[in-house]
This record gives sequence, C-alpha cells and structure tokens, in this order.
Amino acid sequence: MTLFIALLSIASTYFIQRLGTASEHIMKDNFKSIYNANMMASALDEMDNALYKQIVDPKHYDLYHTSFIRNSAVFDENLKQASSNVTEPGEELIVNRLHQRYEHYLAFVPIDVQTYLTVNAQAYDSLKASCLELFAINKKGMDIRNSRAKEVSNEAALYTIILAGVILLIAVLTLFGLPALVINPITELTNKIKAIANRKYSERVEVHSKDEIGELATSFNQMAIKLDEYERSNIDALIAEKKQSEAIVKSMNDGVLVLDRNYSFVLVNPIACELLGIQENDLLGKNANDVAQHNNLIATLVENIATPTGPKPIDGAYLRIYFNGKEEYFLKDIIRIERTEGDPSTAIGYVIELKNVSEFKALDEAKSTFVTTVSHELRTPLSALNMSLRLLQDERIGPMNEEQSRILSAMKEEIRRLIRIVGELLELSRAEIGAELMHISEVSPDSIVDAAVTPMMLQADQKQVLLEIELPSELPLIKADNSKIAWVLINLLSNAIRFTPAGGKVTLSVSAKDNQVEFLVADTGIGIEPQHLAKIFDKFFQTSKVAATHSGVGLGLAISKEIIEAHGGKITVTSEVGKGSTFRFYLKTS
Ligand code: ADP
Repeated sequence: MTLFIALLSIASTYFIQRLGTASEHIMKDNFKSIYNANMMASALDEMDNALYKQIVDPKHYDLYHTSFIRNSAVFDENLKQASSNVTEPGEELIVNRLHQRYEHYLAFVPIDVQTYLTVNAQAYDSLKASCLELFAINKKGMDIRNSRAKEVSNEAALYTIILAGVILLIAVLTLFGLPALVINPITELTNKIKAIANRKYSERVEVHSKDEIGELATSFNQMAIKLDEYERSNIDALIAEKKQSEAIVKSMNDGVLVLDRNYSFVLVNPIACELLGIQENDLLGKNANDVAQHNNLIATLVENIATPTGPKPIDGAYLRIYFNGKEEYFLKDIIRIERTEGDPSTAIGYVIELKNVSEFKALDEAKSTFVTTVSHELRTPLSALNMSLRLLQDERIGPMNEEQSRILSAMKEEIRRLIRIVGELLELSRAEIGAELMHISEVSPDSIVDAAVTPMMLQADQKQVLLEIELPSELPLIKADNSKIAWVLINLLSNAIRFTPAGGKVTLSVSAKDNQVEFLVADTGIGIEPQHLAKIFDKFFQTSKVAATHSGVGLGLAISKEIIEAHGGKITVTSEVGKGSTFRFYLKTS
C-alpha cells in the first residue's frame, strides 16, 4: 500500500509539474508579449493625442510634449521587452517591423494639422497595425498553449484515474486475499497445536515466510521436536522400568498377580500361572470378577479385594493348592497400590501375592509334634516320680527326719510344677496344630460358661473375690470345641481371681454382636502395665512382679490365643494398673 501511495504521488506530482510548466510557458511566452503589445498600442494613442494637441493648442506645447516624451518612453520600454521575448514563429519579423515603423513614426514631427492628418496618420496606422499584429500572434500562441495545457490536464486526469483504479483494484483484491494469507498459517498452526495436545508429537508446520508467523512456526517445530525427544526418552525410561518390574515379578518364587484399578490382570508370573493351573494369556487383560465366575481359586483370591477397609495385609487362612505333585500351603497377601499413600480412594492397582509357606508350616508342625512327643514322654516318668515321692512321704515306709521331710516337700512342689508345665506345653502344641485337632460342633455359650464357672466358684470363694456372671437368656449357638473354649475361660477366670485382691470383683459376661459372640472377663485387680500389654499373649511371658510370687509358667494366655485363633476368632486385652484388666474374645456364630 505504501508503494502504491508513493507511485500515485509521483504520478500526480509529475502531472501537476507538467501542467505548471504549460501555464508558465503561457505566462512567459505569450502573456507578457500581449501585455507589451497592449501597452505599446495605448502609449502610441497617447503619443498621437499629444502630437495632435501640440498642433491645435500650441500654448500648452510643453505640457503635451512632456506627455509625448513620457509615452514614447513607455513605448520604448515595451518594445524592448517584446524584442527580448520572441517566442512565436514570425514574431521576430513583426518585432523588426515594429522597430522600423516606430522609427518611421518618430521621424515625422508634424508642423500643422495637414501633415498630421496625412503623414503622421499613415505612420500611426502602420505602427498600430504592427502592435495589433504582435498582439494577435501572441494571442494565437497563447490559445495553442492553452489547449495543449488542457490536453495535459486531461491526460493527467486520465492517467491518474487509471492508476488510482488499478491501485484500488489491487487494494481490494489484497483486502480479500489478505485475511486468508494471514489466517491460513494461523489455522494450520492451531490444528498442529491441537495435534500436539493429543500427543501427536511428530506433527510439524511448514515454514513459508520469515515474518512473525514464520518465526512462530519455527519455534513451534522446535518445541515439537523437543517434546518428541522428551516423550521418547520418557517412554524408553518407562519401558525399561516396566521390563525391570516384570523381570523381578517373573523371577519371584512366590505367585504374583497384578491387577489394575478395574481389577483386570496386567501382570502374572509363571509361578502364579502354575499354581492356578491357568495360562498367562487366559488371565492378561481379563477382569478378575469374570475369571472368578468359572475359577474358584481366583474367586478366593480376589475375594474382598476392594472392601472399603482395604485388604488385610496377611490373610490368616492358608490356601491349600496342589502344586509340584503335592499339596502345598500358601498365604494370600493383598497389597493395594495407592497413588497417594494412605488414601485408599486413590487405589491404582492391586498385587496379590501367594507365599508358599509349606516349609514353615512343616517346620512348625514338626516343632509342635516334637513338643507334644517330649511332653507326652515326660508325663509318665514325672507321674512315676510324683508317685515315688508320695510313697517316700508315707510313714509306713519309714520315718523321716524333719529336714528330709522338708526336702521331699520341696521336691514334690517342683515335680507338680514340672507336671503343670508339661501339661500346658502339650496343650499349646495341640492348639498350634490347630483346627485339625479341634472337635468343632454347634454349642451354646451357656454350656461353655457352666463348664468354666463351676470349678472357679471355690477358688473365688477362697480368695474372697465376688464372681459375677452376666448371661443373656437368648444367645446364638457358636461353632466351637466346647472343652477348649471352657479351658480358655477357666484360664482367664483363674488369672482374674489370682490377680484380684480379696474384696474385689470378677465379672464374666457374654453378649451377641453382629455375627459374633463376645466373652468378657473383667476384674478389679492389680492391672497390667501398658508396656507389658503387647507381650501378654507371648509364650512364657510373665510380668516380673508376678513371676516371683506365683507358680504359673506364662503359657496360659499363649495357649488361649492359639485356641481362639484356631477357631477363627480374636482375643484382646485392655487394662489399667491398679484398676483391673478386661480380656475379651470373639467367636463366630454358627
Ligand atoms: P501364667 O501361667 O503365668 O498365669 P498366663 O499366660 O496366664 O500365664 O499369664 C501371663 C502373665 O500375664 C501373668 O503372669 C500375669 O503377669 C499377667 N496376667 C494375666 N492375667 C492377668 C490379670 N487378670 N491381671 C493382671 N495380670 C495378668
């Protein structure tokens, strides 16, 4: 547009200049000569008038003569100017003739009216005619120049209009074409940016120009290249990490199944496939719930996987799976993978681990069997020893002095203690072997309470401790080994009575809660220090205060825990030093 405006300005200036030159020529070449011709004609008239008056009014001769001289000076001056401004063809001739005729006119000074009217008048006429001739030739020249100027002006107008028209046309075309010119690259760029936003990093923009849009396109391409590189390196890193994790999972000796947040299998290791007797391809990408419908083992594995409380870290129940030609024991462990640690709502997947615990279980069983055997084997000689001691104490065998009798009593006490330890060890190993040795049946909590409370009444009376039983009339039946649970209750009640001073109270209450029955043994005794609470169910644990004063061995609560857990139940304790302790255990209703 700037170029067009400059072009139009140059053209206009050129035409205006041409017009100016034309009119200048008219002024310079013709108008001045016309003026000179006019001035000369009128000066001639004045001179002629003065001559005439000199003759008719000689009294004022000087006055008229002065006028004649003045006008002849005017004539001279204009003739001189006209002579120096000869522009038209034939003008020179006229000017020369003017000179001659003027000289001729001046040569005759009239003396009387007669000469004036004859000679002078003739000279006057021819001089005037020359003046008019000069006027006419310049007038004609002026007309010609005028019409040429008109032509120039018409030409200027025409060319200007044509030029302006062309410029206007180009401007209009540009005006329509310009938006597309500007917008097309922007539209292209926008589309490419959208593609990049959709992770198509291979997109590039063609750079057509070096303007701002060109620069933008170049920058965009650089950005796309960088993003592409970044994505590639990211993907490479991710693939490497994925392969590492896969390799780790696949090389594990435990069965591992990885599920995504929608419970679809994303990774399964060969051990898991072998354990479940299913091909990897039959699991990968499939939804666990769908597979569970026709595979009981998978159904057990994914059971409770997404419960709001989250999967338990270790599910206590063993899974028995036929593996490597024999039945083996596995522990199921479900690990929830959370995006934000500790926030179950951000679970992005689950790992099911099947730990082969057969060896540990066998070891545990071997230990329990060993303890059972040893305890069992020890029981007979211990009973025999006990018998022999009793015989020794019998007066009929022979009298004993006081010292011997004291030693024998101490020995008997130790033997009694040993028998108790061996008995409890036997009970513990039996409980550890678990549910297999239990005689589970549907029993009423009342019968268990009856069996436990009766032997405890005497002990409570002797210790002057009040034993209170709270037993609701209608309690649901539970699935349990009657004698074992009674043993647990006896153990808890006996501890409670033992650790409650005279005048205290021991409460046994039973209540039904959800699908469970709660047994509660509370006392108002010495209580347990907080630091001991966590260890109270460990084998051979006794608080130091107690160990010194009583004959227990610290196995009662450990056995109780084993028995309750073998029933699929739970045992807990709460206590406050000086105020008493409360033991609770829960058993499932049938
Ligand atoms: P023990 O054969 O010694 O009674 P237990 O396993 O029954 O073994 O008890 C372990 C220890 O727990 C006891 O020695 C005692 O210190 C503590 N204990 C158990 N019951 C109570 C209770 N009701 N009050 C206070 N301490 C208790």
